[in-house]
Amino acid sequence: MQTVKTLQMLRTALAQLRVNGPTIALVPTMGALHEGHLTLVRRARAEADHVVASIFVNPKQFGANEDLDAYPRQLAEDAAMLEAEGVALLWAPTVAEMYPAGFVTNISVAGVSEGLCGGARPGHFDGVATVVLKLFNQVAPDMAFFGEKDFQQLAVIRAMARDLDLARPHVDAIIGVPTMREADGLAMSSRNRYLSAGQRAAAAALPRAMTAAAESIACGTDVAEALAALEAEVLAAGFGSIDYATLADSRSLAPLGALGTEPARLLVAARIGSTRLIDNMAVDAIA
Ligand code: AMP
Repeated sequence: MQTVKTLQMLRTALAQLRVNGPTIALVPTMGALHEGHLTLVRRARAEADHVVASIFVNPKQFGANEDLDAYPRQLAEDAAMLEAEGVALLWAPTVAEMYPAGFVTNISVAGVSEGLCGGARPGHFDGVATVVLKLFNQVAPDMAFFGEKDFQQLAVIRAMARDLDLARPHVDAIIGVPTMREADGLAMSSRNRYLSAGQRAAAAALPRAMTAAAESIACGTDVAEALAALEAEVLAAGFGSIDYATLADSRSLAPLGALGTEPARLLVAARIGSTRLIDNMAVDAIA
């Protein structure tokens, strides 16, 4: 596996890869890799000739009071994990390479980016869309893989690809991969390492309460009632606050007061200590 840090080296390396096989899959990450990231890589390996992974802790998607400086950085360890998974090329640009002096463009996707995490983290999805569009243009992949763990992010990227008629990748080649979880159900996340042992044990209450709420909504319980029970359970387990707990239409992410015939998603963001955790689950639509 080759690691490249400049656009010029990236272009040369991509041209070499394309000689040995036409299809390239991109797996964008911010590093601090875990099994969740590696499932994306494995899916990508199964479907393309070459996998390009990127590691870039994108300052534009962090708010002023967020964890940009504290975000874990471990490039050598991450590179070894990616190499072991058969990744061909690691694109790890510096901030100056990604955003040279004079950079002034912002990509903003309305609608799907506005509620949920977009409400709690102003500007976050502009930062995500801007960097992902740049990564798409830099690598020009045939397909790109994203986790359902960040369900709203996936919706934002798909909306951008559709609205801007992206060709590489086409919106239909933006693949969502189901969330990888720890044995107790907690969604894997680079931020889980911020948790103390006590917080880590308590954090499993989040997916547990969400599973119960998803099942009770599917069985006909009133949505507001099920969400209130979820919030009470999560707070009782030791979470300090809940940013949102919402049932939403899976495609538009518009909030739903009741389960209908369209696919629905339960999405939650909650804080434990100073760590903000997000999770989401499908809720089976009424047949
Ligand atoms: P991040 O490094 O947090 O930006 O994540 C990079 C990619 O990995 C994103 O597409 C995430 O949605 C995905 N990802 C993160 N955690 C998981 C997980 N537990 N399961 C599946 N995909 C994940």
